[in-house]
Amino acid sequence: MRVSTATSSRSDSRVFTVVVQGYGVGKQRQAAREINVPFNRLQALVQSIALLGGQILSVTPAGETPASQPAAAAATPAPAAAAPSKPAPVSHADVPVNLYKPKNPFLGTITENYSLLGEGAIGRVNHITFDLSGGDPQLHYVEGQSIGIIPDGEDANGKPHKLRLYSIASTRHGDNLQDNTVSLCVRQLQYEKDGETINGVCSTFLCDIDPGAKVRITGPVGKEMLLPDDEEANVIMLATGTGIAPMRTYLRRMFEPSEREKNGWNFRGKAWLFMGAPTTANLLYDADFNHYQSQFPDNFRYTKAISREQQNARGGRMYIQDRVSEHADEIFAMIEDPKTHVYMCGLRGMEPGIDEAMSAAAEAKGLNWSELRPQLKKAERWHVETY
Ligand SMILES: Cc1cc2nc3c(=O)[nH]c(=O)nc-3n(C[C@H](O)[C@H](O)[C@H](O)COP(=O)(O)OP(=O)(O)OC[C@H]3O[C@@H](n4cnc5c(N)ncnc54)[C@H](O)[C@@H]3O)c2cc1C
Repeated sequence: MRVSTATSSRSDSRVFTVVVQGYGVGKQRQAAREINVPFNRLQALVQSIALLGGQILSVTPAGETPASQPAAAAATPAPAAAAPSKPAPVSHADVPVNLYKPKNPFLGTITENYSLLGEGAIGRVNHITFDLSGGDPQLHYVEGQSIGIIPDGEDANGKPHKLRLYSIASTRHGDNLQDNTVSLCVRQLQYEKDGETINGVCSTFLCDIDPGAKVRITGPVGKEMLLPDDEEANVIMLATGTGIAPMRTYLRRMFEPSEREKNGWNFRGKAWLFMGAPTTANLLYDADFNHYQSQFPDNFRYTKAISREQQNARGGRMYIQDRVSEHADEIFAMIEDPKTHVYMCGLRGMEPGIDEAMSAAAEAKGLNWSELRPQLKKAERWHVETY
């Protein structure tokens, strides 16, 4: 994407007026508006507009009247900048929220609780399913939401434990497609303190619990990680560890045959999962994702960063941000399409690395990531849930 400067040899103190439509947030998006920009920021603005799905109507030296054809402007973006003007909206309609609150939680029954890890993996991560039938109202949810779990027992002050949130790992139809279960992907928190191993209260409660036991559930909550309704949306997913939970719901909704039959949602866009884990044995739902990739090679791409087994270009450990850097050009090309959404989920510590990789990639294209990211967020195309 280039802005031609061949028509002028004047100094760089020039200011240009860009008339743009479908750029910005809220009411700003709707009307055509003028943005004055110094020459040295013009190319970055043009790229930013393209990235966010705006349409440039004209670019003229400030103070001059635009010619009737945008192409006659002094500085003209290449055709690639004329991206479709409307981003794919994420539907918030009919999203259930807080059907059950901490004072009146739903009592779900555990139906399954099994390890997701392979031989030799680090730590403990379980897939846990709860039966939700019999509630009034029925506890239901959509992909990208979380539920709260109130563990049994009391805290050190003799008070009931507070709820902990967990991203839902099943689609709205549940793993059994009966619309009456919810599944989670839970890592047991464990750390050392003063020579003693401390177990997290709720994660240990969940990883240890047996089928048949009743668990207090609240929610659902969350609208940050909802999928767009658009069947032609593109979805880039960045996950580490249990951050895979929402991504599993998206991918099942997109590619699991029985789920597709049930949901009638005929996904035709491109989905690209970047998954970070310390070892191969720690990759979660790996066989399912490999299978989707073999069945839908034109629609699904699966890129793994296995930190303790793979090396990055500098010879260090391969983290997810290294994979993002490797594929930065393709990722940015996808983001230029307003139908593309990016989802990030996992431990909070992953954010700076991803930001660094995106900043470097943006800079190489003459863009400023710290300006672009908030704009993508406002356009509801950059979705982050880290904890
Ligand atoms: C929106 C959201 C979604 C989430 N989704 C998931 C999910 O899908 N899967 C999942 O497993 N978790 C998820 N979590 C995290 C989950 O809510 C809990 O925080 C996690 O399970 C730990 O809870 P716990 O009761 O086991 O630990 P707690 O007993 O509450 O212990 C946690 C506390 O231990 C202390 N601590 C932790 N690590 C250390 C350390 N290394 N050194 C010293 N102190 C430390 C900190 O004070 C911390 O607050 C999510 C969180 C949010 C906010």
